Amino acid sequence: MGVTFGANGRLYHAPARPVLGVCADGWDPEYVDDALERGLMPRVAEALADGGSYALARAQVPTFTNPNNVAIVTGVCAARNGIAGNHYRAADGHEVQLTDASFLRATTIHAEALEAGVPVLCVTAKDKLRALLAAGGVPAFSAECAHEQALEDGTPVTALLERPNPSIYDWRLSPYAIDLSLALAARLQARLVYVSLTDFVQHTAAPRQPLADEFYRAVDAALGRALDAGFVVGLVADHGMRAKTSPDGSPNVRFLDEALDAAGVAGGHTLCPITDPYVAHHAALGSLAWVHLDDQSQLDRARSALAALRGVEGVLDRSAAAESFELPADRIGDLVVLADGVTVLGKSRAAHDFSALEGCLRSHGGLHERLVPLIVCQRLKEDALAGRDLHNRDLHHLLLNELA
Ligand SMILES: [Zn+2]
Repeated sequence: MGVTFGANGRLYHAPARPVLGVCADGWDPEYVDDALERGLMPRVAEALADGGSYALARAQVPTFTNPNNVAIVTGVCAARNGIAGNHYRAADGHEVQLTDASFLRATTIHAEALEAGVPVLCVTAKDKLRALLAAGGVPAFSAECAHEQALEDGTPVTALLERPNPSIYDWRLSPYAIDLSLALAARLQARLVYVSLTDFVQHTAAPRQPLADEFYRAVDAALGRALDAGFVVGLVADHGMRAKTSPDGSPNVRFLDEALDAAGVAGGHTLCPITDPYVAHHAALGSLAWVHLDDQSQLDRARSALAALRGVEGVLDRSAAAESFELPADRIGDLVVLADGVTVLGKSRAAHDFSALEGCLRSHGGLHERLVPLIVCQRLKEDALAGRDLHNRDLHHLLLNELA
């Protein structure tokens, strides 16, 4: 019998072959379908033809990066792991990035595997995820800040690859992150490896645009190097991505603090849980927002004002949202506002830096970016996917428990 370990109520088997789980940031199924159809991803296509699987899975709502990466590495929903956004409003009213491991309310699969003696490794393109992935002593590196990191023996991380690490706004950062994970895995003898990519390309380019084509070709080649190195490769996205523009091409935004002011609601505070350091990706504009109220007697008036906005398709109170989307009630707003597929939500015009946006606004966060691709480049057990309500957080279950 092989080694098994538990994580958050589920049993996992230590991998018989090295496993690479990939969070393909912002890979809307439209990119993957197009890339496969036009032959941009020959290695993934070959793996699928040889018995691999491509299914659609559901992401954690809100469909932002941190909640979904944490769902994938813990195997459980945000209500259990505690990470409901990239960003939240603490009890004292301050806005805080949810990037520190102390915010986690669940262990990670990698931390439990390490505890059971399985050599593990996490690599993230975006440095903002590094501390969360490192929880429990997991060796974690970022491609963005690789030039500042070293191995325990003092070897600079960037010495492992022949090219320098690209910047956060360079499309080459994601393939670099995959190659870095392979080099680090070889060095550290890691057998369970997680690599999280970045969605700069998806925020910038629609499917079939030249930048997207170049990106999918390069990532496929990097995944091919993982397959050639003997890894079982599985890939799932954290969220999809859609254009959020008016017919004239300008960002299609509703400003919620302005709407509350206009309706005479005092003491309302909109929080955009997409907020992170990478403003050129999205200017902190996504399709879901929390609204906090100083005075709960304003709740109905606020709800009516927000629900009346064009492009808003749902306003839930805290407990209904926590229940519907498996969220920790203490880390969301008094109201949860959902935009339709082509609309994003902001605080006020002055609170967002539109000059940082490169080209048209493409973003995520709501229900319209919830369906994501889940690909396993290896044959699964016959009924591994049958009848399952598949989530992206099931990736490690499939890779560790369900290979044929
Ligand atoms: Zn993301």
